[in-house]
Parts: sequence; structure tokens; C-alpha cells
Amino acid sequence: MTTPKVNANHAPAVKEIHVVWMTTGLSCDGDSVSTTAASLPSIEDVVLGAIPGLPKVHLHNPVLAYEVGDDFMQYWHKAAAGELEPFVLVLEGSVPNEEIKSEGYWAAMGTDPNTGQPITTNEWIDRLAPKATAVIAAGTCATYGGIHAMQGNPTGAMGLADYLGWNWRSKAGLPIVNVPGCPVQPDNMMETLLYLLYQVAGLAPMIPLDDQLRPTWLFGKTVHEGCDRGSYYEQGDFAHEYGSPKCLVKIGCWGPVVNCNVTKRGWMDGIGGCPNVGGICIACTMPGFPDKFMPFMDEPPGATFSSMLISSYGPLIRSLRAITNRAVNQEPKWRHRGPELTTGYEPDYYGEGNGAPNGNGHAHHQHHH
Ligand code: SF4
Ligand code: SF4
Repeated sequence: MTTPKVNANHAPAVKEIHVVWMTTGLSCDGDSVSTTAASLPSIEDVVLGAIPGLPKVHLHNPVLAYEVGDDFMQYWHKAAAGELEPFVLVLEGSVPNEEIKSEGYWAAMGTDPNTGQPITTNEWIDRLAPKATAVIAAGTCATYGGIHAMQGNPTGAMGLADYLGWNWRSKAGLPIVNVPGCPVQPDNMMETLLYLLYQVAGLAPMIPLDDQLRPTWLFGKTVHEGCDRGSYYEQGDFAHEYGSPKCLVKIGCWGPVVNCNVTKRGWMDGIGGCPNVGGICIACTMPGFPDKFMPFMDEPPGATFSSMLISSYGPLIRSLRAITNRAVNQEPKWRHRGPELTTGYEPDYYGEGNGAPNGNGHAHHQHHH
């Protein structure tokens, strides 16, 4: 798959673009931290004007900003008021379900000057998404729900497309762009952001996305198809313990059915990429992550059969694998909006029915900056 063509020989349609990057989804801020390692391009290249043809870019990200407090929050309020034009909205972290709560909130940032109350992450999404020219969900939590959206979770967490709707379009007609990864691979994130900045500036055609809203040129191949242990697999030579240079499928690698390019691209500056450097692929980019891939250290279903028959029946294995790939490219059914929590969360499991693991009555975990 080739990267679509950007034409930076024309003058951009706008002089300045803002990036409003929310980190107050349910997350570990790991996607912001990961993105600081990007080099194709780096954040610095983009904000310091080193990229040909790009308008001036202003990045507003609470993990990376110099400003704090009201000085920082002014960009959020301006964007919501339509005074920060144009901007790309980035969401990091999954969207909790505030509709299941009668009091308190799951996640928030900043204070509403009219009420003195915290502004929830969901309220920010509702205010900012309609004003954004393009929207990116960064990392597996924001794209599909991720770790926070596991079976049995109390927050009813979901991905951005589950919240806004899979057919949602920005005011400029762009779908949500999903860049999964736990965390997001740094260059996948910056390359996608750069592409959208070019598109907002009128210098690139519509970004090509697959049915899970991923850029096709980044997520069209499997981990296995790029893995440098592939020849061990083909020779039927498998690792049975960590530290071996051989194929890791028998100790839990899901690479054959996972859409991710880190085995080709590496992690930082082309170095690393899970199975290449000895880590099993746990499928962290996938819509079905983590539930459909647990327990992680077990041999994936179908692995014994496929690794046994691989030499004579390659084409058959490929089509069986396509079936598994389709199944793990679907999110579990409990990631949705609405007043009902269907994750299977049972507060009584912890004891007295107050929902708190330590029984101190703080049933409402609050996550805020
Ligand atoms: S280590 Fe994983 S991705 Fe690499 S060849 Fe083996 S099964 Fe495929
Ligand atoms: S190889 Fe697997 S575990 Fe590693 S980043 Fe890709 S999907 Fe995640």
C-alpha cells in the first residue's frame, strides 16, 4: 500500500492551524509521551516550521505545554467558541459513559466559569468535535476503548467512534481518523497528524481509511507479514522459551491475525517492533483488545494447526487466518452509549456493595488534570 500523494507546491489555504490535543480520556498519557519519540516527522519539526508547505502549527497538549491553568485552558474555550480556526482535535484516552452515573463524574478538565463545576471530558468532546475540521483518536483507548473498556469495567468506557457514532463526519466532511496502538507508534501518529494538517491546508486529498477508520497505508498488513522471524515460522522452527531468536507463535504471539506495522517500521527510529526484538504480539492495536486476546501468554487458537501444516497448506492457512482476523477486528458489544452499563461489572464482588475495592465508600473514581 502506498502513501497518498501530498502536494506542497501550492500555497496553503490557511496561514495557521491549531492542534487541540485532549489527554483527559481514560488513559495513562502514554500516547503523548510516545509521540515525543517521533522522527518522521518529529513534533519539533512540525511546530518549528521545518515541514515544506505547512502553515504555522500551534500545538495545545497539557502534557507538553508550557502554559498552565487559565493560560492553558483559554485555547479550549476559544476552540469551543469557534475562535480557534481551523483546528484538528486529538483525543487520547477512552470516553467514559457519564450517562450511567447519578452523581460525580469519571473524567474532567478545567472549570466552567458559570457554574464553578468541572467540565467533563464528554462535555469537551460535545463542545469541540462540531467545531473541529478533523478529528483523530490517538491510541487504542481513544479508538476502540482499550484496557479501560475491558469486560467487567465500571465506567462503561468506549472509543470515540462508539461515542460520536461510526458515521460521524466533521464540519469539513472528514470521518474520525483512528490511529490505534498501546501506546500509539510515534511515527504512525505524527505521519497521520501531518497528513491531516496538509489536508486541512488544502494540500492533500481525502485520507484513505479502512472500515475500522484506520489509515490504510499504515494498518493494511499484519505483524506477521512484516516480522523478521517469519523465516523461522516458515521452516517450522519455534521458540519454546523467551530469549530465543525463533518464531514466538507457540509462546503466545498473535502476529498472524493482527493489523500493525511495527515489525516493518520499528518503534523509535526504525529500531524495535515487538516480535522483532523478542516480545510476543499481544494485539494492542486491535478493536477486540484486550478481551479477545487473553490470557496473553497462551498459544493463540489455531496456532498449533497452522504451524503444523504451514509448508504444504499455506493458501488454506491464509484464508482461515482471514476469518480470525475479521473476528478480532470487531469490538466487544458492551462498548456503547446509553444509561445502561452492560460490561458485567459487579460491585458486590468487592464486598459490601458500595462498589469500592477498599470499602471506603469512594465508588466514583475521578480522573482529572
Ligand atoms: S514471532 Fe509472531 S509475527 Fe513473528 S513470525 Fe512468529 S508468529 Fe509471526
Ligand atoms: S506488534 Fe502487536 S503488541 Fe506490538 S505494537 Fe503491534 S499490535 Fe501491539
